[in-house]
Amino acid sequence: MIGAGIVGLACAEELVRGGHDVRVLDPDPGGGATRAAAGMLALGGEAWHGETDLLRLGVASARLWLEYAARLQAASGVNVDLRTEGTLLVGQDHDDLRQVRRTIEVLATEGIAFRELDRPGARADEPTLSRVAGAVLLPEDHNVNPRLVAEALLRLLGDRVVRTRATVLDGRVCLAEGTEFGCDAVVIATGAQARSLVPQVRPVRGETIRLRVIDPPSRVLRARVHGETVYVVPRSDGEVVVGATEEEHAEQPVATLGTVVRLLHAARTLVPGLESAEIVEITARHRPGTPDNGPLLGVTHSPGPVRQVLAVGHYRGGVLLAPLTAQVIRAHVEGGDIPAVARPFVPSRFGPHEISTAADHWKDPMS
Ligand SMILES: Cc1cc2nc3c(=O)[nH]c(=O)nc-3n(C[C@H](O)[C@H](O)[C@H](O)COP(=O)(O)OP(=O)(O)OC[C@H]3O[C@@H](n4cnc5c(N)ncnc54)[C@H](O)[C@@H]3O)c2cc1C
Repeated sequence: MIGAGIVGLACAEELVRGGHDVRVLDPDPGGGATRAAAGMLALGGEAWHGETDLLRLGVASARLWLEYAARLQAASGVNVDLRTEGTLLVGQDHDDLRQVRRTIEVLATEGIAFRELDRPGARADEPTLSRVAGAVLLPEDHNVNPRLVAEALLRLLGDRVVRTRATVLDGRVCLAEGTEFGCDAVVIATGAQARSLVPQVRPVRGETIRLRVIDPPSRVLRARVHGETVYVVPRSDGEVVVGATEEEHAEQPVATLGTVVRLLHAARTLVPGLESAEIVEITARHRPGTPDNGPLLGVTHSPGPVRQVLAVGHYRGGVLLAPLTAQVIRAHVEGGDIPAVARPFVPSRFGPHEISTAADHWKDPMS
């Protein structure tokens, strides 16, 4: 496994469960987009017109999460803070609410549960809200703490995780120290940095802000606030995650004043009690975007004897999609049956694909 973000870790743990001898290579396990992610398991909140296959993939993975979190927790001793209070989609003014209603048109066609709330209904449901125009409750959109999920998986994988960079060159796995690594199969799960090997992956910068609040909202709020999109994700320990910006961006991801101010302004308009929140952390990372917003899951052409499998391009949904991705990648490694819902996401949908063999793989593409 090259890459120990939430996707690589989940795939590695599933392969270990399948009896495989696994090594996970990453200089900074859990330090990529996984570190910034808010952890919304947003099957409904991210739904959009024209992305039916992706919505169905998300629904299938969301349905695995309750059992998955319970199993990780029992096996590792780490409580991953899965919260099942659902999500409120909120429109601050009437134009914002019209946009929110466009999302629920998609949910209605896929049979995903939702309940519309008028202005008093929204305030009664979530008293921390300001005077918003209305909201939609998505009872099945849960959330989890991705950092704790990574910690649980790292504990379960133990010394199978090796802190080093690696790449694939002419079908061989090469380590940064200049040595080669012998294996039957290699899974590439390097997030946005996969673009040096997989040209369809592009970095999309996102920032989240971690706050500490005395009176946090009781559930996830995803809102449009006078045209700005913002979310507020409460954790059980009193931390609240505010996010997220989204910018096409190829340089090292850094947080910028303009985007942070816009996010915080929208969050405080939505939840006035955030005024006195303590700012704990601001984190910027690259999401691994793709041309159709869906991941690349499957075998790719290999010049050598090593079976090459891609698990990249999870864009805005890597946390949501991790448990299902793990099962799909295990099936690809073993040559087993691929779940029907994942078949639209084979890398070959973008044409015949070969891992690039350029000599500059060691270059960090973000620098
Ligand atoms: C601001 C923000 C908010 C988000 N919120 C959510 C959310 O609420 N819900 C959700 O489902 N998703 C969310 N996402 C998306 C989610 O974080 C990503 O889809 C997910 O982290 C992708 O996981 P990954 O393991 O593929 O990549 P990453 O988490 O980026 O991990 C990639 C790993 O590969 C390693 N690596 C890279 N190159 C090499 C190499 N050559 N050798 C070895 N290792 C290497 C890196 O060190 C890193 O650890 C968010 C993302 C951002 C940025």
